[in-house]
Amino acid sequence: MDYRYLAELLYPDVKHDYEYYESLYPVRNLPEGAKVTRIAPSPTGYVHFGSIFPALVSERLARQSGGVFYLRIEDTDEKRKVKGAIEDIIKSFDYFGINFDEGVTLKEQKGNYEPYIQSQRVEIYHTFAKKLVSEGKAFPCFCSEETIENDKQLQAKNKEMIGYYGKYAHCINLTCNEIEKKIKDGKKFVLRFLPDEVTKNNVTVTDLIRGAVTITDDNTGRILIKSDGVPTYHFAHAVDDHLMRTTHVVRGEEWLSSVIFNMQLFLALGFKPPKYMHISTLMTIDGVRKKKLSKRDKGSGLKEYIKNGYAAESVVEYVLTLLNSNYEDWRRANPELHWSEFSFSIKKMGSSGSLFDFAKLNDVSKNVISNMTALDVYNRLIAWASKFDKEFYEKLSYDKEYAIVVLSIGRGGPKSRKDFAVWSELRHYMSFFYDNWFEITDKINEKFSSADIIAALKKFASCYNENDTQDIWFGKIKDIAASLNYCPDMKLYKQNPEAYQGNVGDISMFIRVAVTGRINSPDLYTVMQVLGKERVIVRLKSYCI
Ligand code: GLU
Ligand code: ZN
Repeated sequence: MDYRYLAELLYPDVKHDYEYYESLYPVRNLPEGAKVTRIAPSPTGYVHFGSIFPALVSERLARQSGGVFYLRIEDTDEKRKVKGAIEDIIKSFDYFGINFDEGVTLKEQKGNYEPYIQSQRVEIYHTFAKKLVSEGKAFPCFCSEETIENDKQLQAKNKEMIGYYGKYAHCINLTCNEIEKKIKDGKKFVLRFLPDEVTKNNVTVTDLIRGAVTITDDNTGRILIKSDGVPTYHFAHAVDDHLMRTTHVVRGEEWLSSVIFNMQLFLALGFKPPKYMHISTLMTIDGVRKKKLSKRDKGSGLKEYIKNGYAAESVVEYVLTLLNSNYEDWRRANPELHWSEFSFSIKKMGSSGSLFDFAKLNDVSKNVISNMTALDVYNRLIAWASKFDKEFYEKLSYDKEYAIVVLSIGRGGPKSRKDFAVWSELRHYMSFFYDNWFEITDKINEKFSSADIIAALKKFASCYNENDTQDIWFGKIKDIAASLNYCPDMKLYKQNPEAYQGNVGDISMFIRVAVTGRINSPDLYTVMQVLGKERVIVRLKSYCI
């Protein structure tokens, strides 16, 4: 068989030699050890929470080594394309502060290795497909969909392996003349791969987390180029990662079984394969069982986190705690530093699937937010509210100073309050600072007599002075307690609770419920200072009506 002739026959329109692309996309001029990484999502739906893991690892590896991190869009599956998905991918990663040096952006593509969208690279794939044909490493298959489908059914019935092999590989021995005739007749073909004898059955790859992994191939005549001329993912991956000079491919473990085909292709094409790292699938607890975090699970879409108002840092922080076993220790030792200062290491990654835990994420997030300044919280909150809670947005922008004062309560210092994990919780948290949102949501325990409650509130209303120091203020509450036979001293009370109606804490609670509507609130003295005397008195009085 004259393979060169065959190559010409199959790809007459290919304008360039593959060497043209080798020099168009030259080896990158980067310092020794610099890593070139990418994420290569397919625009087939919303971005899964799990995809932040390989993205963050890729970003860290590139960034820490002075390399390049880029975004490539793998849109070769026309049927599964979803409108708006590319935009969603870009915006989601942008929100989490995972920035690309090159690749697809909302406007144009940036970088010297463009295009970074696979559907725009068809000519390049054909060039390399032609190369494979000319070396006898790929062949055209003219089988109709029916033939393939019938074979599949027969194979299933005979309990044989499904695929294009042995007697089912109908086109493997077609002569050049036969092929030429079919082409002249306008028959469509798919291009199938012929792995070489060495890599045909199995390939051993060193995965950066898992070590040496041997994968066995079933040799089922894999397709490189579909009948519409569009490549399959695997072929495009090999060509792109080579030409974009990727050094490390970091992706989910669901791609581990594809590695054999990836490797076979790299070798057949004469490319040096990149290093691979397959990150374990994120697990969740379903009742008592561990299972994969699937698309149907709460928390599986990255967008949900944006909508709920998780700060970008909180999510990144949480993901880093799952990715690197020493991250939490580092954070404890360096509470002030940005996560990017942590020295991320492949060696500290585990090979078993991380367990996703909302409670832990929320704890991490509360901690992250407690370290922010009130102004920082305000800016992020208003940015979130402008998209997801218009009414709240109006409130926040109407009186910025006031909102910042409210957000300052309990903030700063080592004992910062850890009240909220997401921006969406702040509307409730802040609501009693706004009169038209204020309502009594918590009930005072019925064991307290309403006469006592009303007496306490009235007394407090008549002596409240905004200019009192916190000590004087509390002294007044103690006096009120004593006057109503509520013990003003907690120690004393505990020795003989039966002797009293209650204690000074109960009196504070009555006042707290009247003023904030809740049993729990930030420091009541400060809350009153922020609300101002007039509102405090109005609330105390209206509780008594
Ligand atoms: N297009 C694949 C995906 O959707 C990329 C796999 C890879 O990173 O090689 O995840
Ligand atoms: Zn065929």
